[in-house]
Amino acid sequence: MTEDGLPEVDWDSLTFSFTETDRMYMATCKQGDDWGQGKMQDFQNLSLSPAAGVINYGQGLFEGMKAQHAADGSIVLFRPLDNARRSRDGARRLGMTPVPEEMFLDAIMQTVRENSRWVPPMGKGALYVRPLLFGSGAILGVAPAPEYTFLVYVSPVGPYFKGGITPTSLRVSDEFHRAAPGGSGGVKAIGNYAPGMVPSQMAKSEGYSEIIYLDAVNHRYIEEVGAANFFCVKNGVISTPELTGTILPGVTRSSVMQLAESKGYEIKEEKIDVDYALEADECFCVGTAAVISSIGKIEHGERVVEYCGGDVGPIAMELYESLTKIQQRRAPDQFGWTVTVE
Ligand SMILES: *Cc1c(COP(=O)(O)O)cnc(C)c1O
Repeated sequence: MTEDGLPEVDWDSLTFSFTETDRMYMATCKQGDDWGQGKMQDFQNLSLSPAAGVINYGQGLFEGMKAQHAADGSIVLFRPLDNARRSRDGARRLGMTPVPEEMFLDAIMQTVRENSRWVPPMGKGALYVRPLLFGSGAILGVAPAPEYTFLVYVSPVGPYFKGGITPTSLRVSDEFHRAAPGGSGGVKAIGNYAPGMVPSQMAKSEGYSEIIYLDAVNHRYIEEVGAANFFCVKNGVISTPELTGTILPGVTRSSVMQLAESKGYEIKEEKIDVDYALEADECFCVGTAAVISSIGKIEHGERVVEYCGGDVGPIAMELYESLTKIQQRRAPDQFGWTVTVE
């Protein structure tokens, strides 16, 4: 027990999984109205109509970011405004009332602040912040719900890779697609994720960490790795799939691109033919959870390619070190990406 009688958290046993915390933020809004004053409350179950839009028709989106203890002792967020803007764009696509940027940021700040005892010590993990926006009002026909709920909860998580970054084995899927042109692949719509669970489980049962999705039109260009963005490096040039609406615009993706450019690398956003990736010198994927994850091996049909002898690629390593240093303020934040939770 701690001095104030709260249970001690065993930071070393944290994994990347859900742990219930103390407080959550919640606000509601009638369709066509402005958002009302949100409020903090104890973490609790929701009360929802069985006819709520979200559980009938999947009208909802989520966000994901991390709060961490920084080297200067403060608690910091990483580019939270980018998450606010992405949720706003997603809300528009899904016919929901967007949450204003200031309200989104304020909700996150309050939720992190009131759960600050759950922020792991630096290097032991992070407080994962999960904003949700969904149609909570009852509706029987397929149409936007009459009421929306915005809530933010948090959960402490351990490092994604315990014992340092380890290269993963991936399989290219010729059977499943994640998103199609004109659909919702470019937003963090909740409905995008359930269809990926079985393909992902199938790959895992055969020893792979995740699957690589190809585009749904040509079945040829790499889109994403599970729920992370893809990068490959060939002859020193770093490439990532261009954003065509079917790929989620990751905050980590954008950060990796800017960071690599500032280090003098040539960066290309382009269509990446799976055959080009199989000939690459190095591949990695990026996202909030793992930051950067090196790819050791890719299987596509009969072909199996190993990168860097199965070791962590040098550019993935360099970018991982630099980016995590900035995120934890162990290096100067030249881009102004970190935001202190006051
Ligand atoms: C969230 C997500 C990412 C990564 O985005 P970040 O903002 O970097 O966390 C990539 N792809 C998909 C499908 C995602 O849902």
